[in-house]
Amino acid sequence: MKIIGLLGGMSWESTLGYYRTINEGVKSTLGGLHSAKIVLYSIDFEPIEQLQHAGDWDGTAKILSEAAKIIQAAGADILLICTNTMHKVAPEIEAAIQIPLLHIADATAEVLVNEGIKSVGLLGTAFTMEQDFYKGRLTNKYGLQVSVPDEIDRALVHKIIYEELCLGKIKSDSKAEYLRIIEALAAKGAEAVILGCTEIGMLVSQVDTTVRLLDTTEIHAEKAVEYAT
Ligand code: GLU
Repeated sequence: MKIIGLLGGMSWESTLGYYRTINEGVKSTLGGLHSAKIVLYSIDFEPIEQLQHAGDWDGTAKILSEAAKIIQAAGADILLICTNTMHKVAPEIEAAIQIPLLHIADATAEVLVNEGIKSVGLLGTAFTMEQDFYKGRLTNKYGLQVSVPDEIDRALVHKIIYEELCLGKIKSDSKAEYLRIIEALAAKGAEAVILGCTEIGMLVSQVDTTVRLLDTTEIHAEKAVEYAT
């Protein structure tokens, strides 16, 4: 079995999901008392969040690249960055290490392509919904048509991520807002909606809606299990 490297803590609430899904996946694949070989480096999220909102992405890249090197030195065979947003600096992190990076947008796009989905809605932080590092990869590499909520709803989705989900707060009115926004994306033609932030699965899941949802935490973690086993 290969060793999975997790660059986590962004937020730790969602890293818990990775740990559980990866171990459950290894258990169901290999049976018995098998569990995953994981090297986890969990960073302090507060400085990262401050640098993000100050637009200092080079600052975040430095911190995350150092952490990735530590994960590699600890023996990991592959690296997962356990957040969609910080894939903004995936090229810098990738350049700092020799082990492969399992990109969260690639793992997600592969599911969409396999299901024959061409038009998809995207929820995530404002950085993920508005900048090109994520949407652009889905469009340019996989030919997907990506739609996002309007400006007011993007601000709401972003605020709920940082002020509630990353702090472990799950509120029913926020869940209702997310479901409203998901339905609106579907009504405008999205065949599925990407939960493109690793905490969103804590708030909404497939049982809440008939719209096909892609939980990036689960997809990313399951892909790591495939690789490791
Ligand atoms: N976990 C989130 C994501 O998947 C947001 C936290 C962050 O900014 O890294 O984008």
